[in-house]
Amino acid sequence: MHLRQAKRLLGRLLKEANPRKNAQAAIYNGIQDIKYPDNVKVADYRSDTFSTPSQQMRQVMFEAKVGDDVYGEDPTVNELESKGANLFGKEAALFCASGTMSNLLAVMTHSDQRGCEVIVGDESHILMWEQAGAAQIAGAQLRTVTNKSNGTFDLNEMAAKIRSNKVKFLPRTSLVCIENTHNSCGGRVLPIPWLKQLGEVVKSFNLPLHLDGARLFNSVVYYGLPAADVVKECDSINLCLSKGLGAPLGSLLVGSSNFIEKARYLRKVIGGGMRQVGLMAAAGIYALDNMVERLREDHEHAYAIGKAISECRSPVITVDMEGVETNILLIQMDTRYVKSDEFCRRLSTVTDEELKGANPTAVKILPWSPSIARLVVCCNNTVEDRLATIEKVKSVIWEMDKRAQGREPTSIRT
Ligand SMILES: *Cc1c(COP(=O)(O)O)cnc(C)c1O
Repeated sequence: MHLRQAKRLLGRLLKEANPRKNAQAAIYNGIQDIKYPDNVKVADYRSDTFSTPSQQMRQVMFEAKVGDDVYGEDPTVNELESKGANLFGKEAALFCASGTMSNLLAVMTHSDQRGCEVIVGDESHILMWEQAGAAQIAGAQLRTVTNKSNGTFDLNEMAAKIRSNKVKFLPRTSLVCIENTHNSCGGRVLPIPWLKQLGEVVKSFNLPLHLDGARLFNSVVYYGLPAADVVKECDSINLCLSKGLGAPLGSLLVGSSNFIEKARYLRKVIGGGMRQVGLMAAAGIYALDNMVERLREDHEHAYAIGKAISECRSPVITVDMEGVETNILLIQMDTRYVKSDEFCRRLSTVTDEELKGANPTAVKILPWSPSIARLVVCCNNTVEDRLATIEKVKSVIWEMDKRAQGREPTSIRT
């Protein structure tokens, strides 16, 4: 084989081996940072991290009492931390700058010896989206178990991957992590019976269980159970205040007093010792008091948009409604006809034709993989957004269906 041919083949193989590459680059390349004419309605469903603090939330931030939190003297941070601990039925909590920091601290604190290995799902946020912080900062190795489509994994597979600490060739398993709701699986809620079984297995190995509960309250309102019941099996929990709960920043790490004391020490070295941060903690307190029940509205919006898509009965663009449990909607497409980046680009484009119509709308969502686009609802999204979005999505699907009808499936382009 000639060198040129070999190079071309290698290029193709690499591309095929990494089908997420292009879609994931698109997520952060700002492809949808588009300026629209004033009469265009923009419905932005890229992420619940886009949620903005309400007027009332800003007011409590303005009025917050503050002190130096590194000295433990910020009364508002202290109030938020004890509120978080009580809410989850645990002893203590720690205010962190972000969910990434909170998860990293959990891994660091639970893995305080050399040679540690942490078990995570292969679709987990800790593995996929946190810059390998477990490796580069905590010095721990991640070992994956295969995530099922509902965010769980096989408990036998997990048990088989826990190392014996008696063999001197092996790393030592220090921690098992789960995610609820599960982001990459489409906001799926982990079944309570599975959580109970998992808790028993993990305990039988004498290991701690960490929950990445960035969107834990989305599952709590779905179950209709007290938060403390949902996290009973978990030794530590990360909760994001800055997603659906609408605070500008912050996450809580929750666990035993001993665990939080160690995590508080480590927070300082990774730059998380913040000073008059009661301004932000006030938003967190407001969020826990006022923003939890309203997550149901986000779930309703996601469900309604999903239902409208599935009612199109499109052969090209579909939604598995059984998987739509919370505020995240995964829209599937037949990549022989359209790939997710094209679908997303079309939704965010307003044509001249549409501009002349009654309700020109741009819908922003993100390509998640070539065959999946992800739509996330948060408190920014109104009922009007939802109605306009349904109209726009229906007309784009109609367009894609029509195009597909006149076309044989092309061979899969890479
Ligand atoms: C967003 C998110 C995080 C990280 O939170 P940041 O505040 O963005 O660092 C962790 N886990 C999951 C599941 C998330 O969705």
